[in-house]
Amino acid sequence: MKLHEIGERRLTYGVTDRFSIPFDDCAWMDAGDDYLLVTTDMVGRKTHFPEGATFYQMGWYAVAVNASDIAAKGGTPAAYVAAMGLPRNLEERAYRELLEGMGDCMEHHGGVLVGGDTKEADDIIMAITALGRVKKNELMKRKGARPGDEVWVTGTLGRGGAALLEHDMDALLMVEARVKEGRVLAASGSVTSCMDLSDGLAASLHQLMKINACGFKIYEGALPVDGRAQKREDARELVLYYGGDYELLFTACKGSMEGLKHRMQVTKIGEVMEEQRVLLIADGSEEEMENRGYEHFR
Ligand SMILES: [Mg+2]
Repeated sequence: MKLHEIGERRLTYGVTDRFSIPFDDCAWMDAGDDYLLVTTDMVGRKTHFPEGATFYQMGWYAVAVNASDIAAKGGTPAAYVAAMGLPRNLEERAYRELLEGMGDCMEHHGGVLVGGDTKEADDIIMAITALGRVKKNELMKRKGARPGDEVWVTGTLGRGGAALLEHDMDALLMVEARVKEGRVLAASGSVTSCMDLSDGLAASLHQLMKINACGFKIYEGALPVDGRAQKREDARELVLYYGGDYELLFTACKGSMEGLKHRMQVTKIGEVMEEQRVLLIADGSEEEMENRGYEHFR
């Protein structure tokens, strides 16, 4: 069997099973009163960046997706290590632009570059590792959702998909990681599980279902559809099955978000239920949300 027949998520389960680690956005390690958060995300020109993306945008994106994983655990980014594979014929100007994008993104989200490695490769590959901190009692794991909890998202959905299809590189790649929002949610103590939405809403809910052994009832009418996606006929597909939104998907104790709603854009989209299904409810009808979204190797 070849990897493309298996897909990224099942390959990841291979690692989490073999090494007995939780399937989460970051790893967390003991650091006194805090946890040290560690995450790594590798992006490549061929696999992640459409034609027309600038080197600055690539550098920004490579850092932002890592900051998003730190944000999803309620953490503050502290430091980054960057391992880069670069083709020998790349212009030095392009390399400088990559570094500018990375540096500006770090400045924007917090944390500084403390090391890395540069090697020759067939194409541009950037493997950034982000380190962050979170108070032990504020860590938001993927595991913890309970029947009766509410399901919420930050920001809007469908933006990444619309940007991809409309070839808007700024909207697609200049990702704003939800670090501030993650901090507010973590400090509230009301969040029972959290992850970032890089793979799309449906695939993310299916992952949370597997980890928490519970299901979700999502109200289609409540989904905060991005303004640009709204204008498109395929809006529903973009909101449910396209990745690239980098919002936070989280569950919270019933009624606990009311006091936080005015502090940031968050929307209640559904409820956690015992039955292990992901249901989309619209005008009294219900259907299963399929377990599909963006996946590498596919
Ligand atoms: Mg993630």
